Amino acid sequence: MGIEEKVPSGFLLTTVEKFAGFARRGSLWPATFGLACCAIEMMATTGGRYDIARFGMEAFRASPRQADLMIVAGRVSQKMAPVLRQVYDQMAEPKWVLAMGVCASSGGMFNNYAVVQGVDHVVPVDIYLPGCPPRPEMLMNAIITLHHKIQEMPLGVNRELAIAEAEKAALASPTTLELKGLLR
Ligand code: SF4
Repeated sequence: MGIEEKVPSGFLLTTVEKFAGFARRGSLWPATFGLACCAIEMMATTGGRYDIARFGMEAFRASPRQADLMIVAGRVSQKMAPVLRQVYDQMAEPKWVLAMGVCASSGGMFNNYAVVQGVDHVVPVDIYLPGCPPRPEMLMNAIITLHHKIQEMPLGVNRELAIAEAEKAALASPTTLELKGLLR
């Protein structure tokens, strides 16, 4: 008989790791970081019609020190890249990055010397969202997908083990994206 059957109902059993994941995913604070047209859709997501507050993240922070999610909404110019990196470095750990739209994900139609061909050249990206621009529903879907990743994020020794495994996998295949997400 498992312990769940012995204790009276009303008890909730979990692990610190799962509880931390639950708390983190339910209280993401995005940094205000709109760069181009995609930012209009990001702003629409915070409005009453789409109401991102339902997911505990209506408070976009103007200071990166109070934010743990960077939504890169729009194309990144070469001039903006060092600024973006500085904002990322100022954000508190643990932190996540969402590349919103084709421009942020790969440079999109701006295949030229002035635009960074994917924000993953500057910061580690946790989730890529295609579209030009992605609609608010798509942004919410990407964020909820990211929530699952945050919920499963290992802590302490488990995190070190996961990093070691990702490093091993990266040696076998240098393009492994998992490593980017774990090594901060
Ligand atoms: S993906 Fe489209 S909407 Fe978004 S920044 Fe690029 S051109 Fe603008």
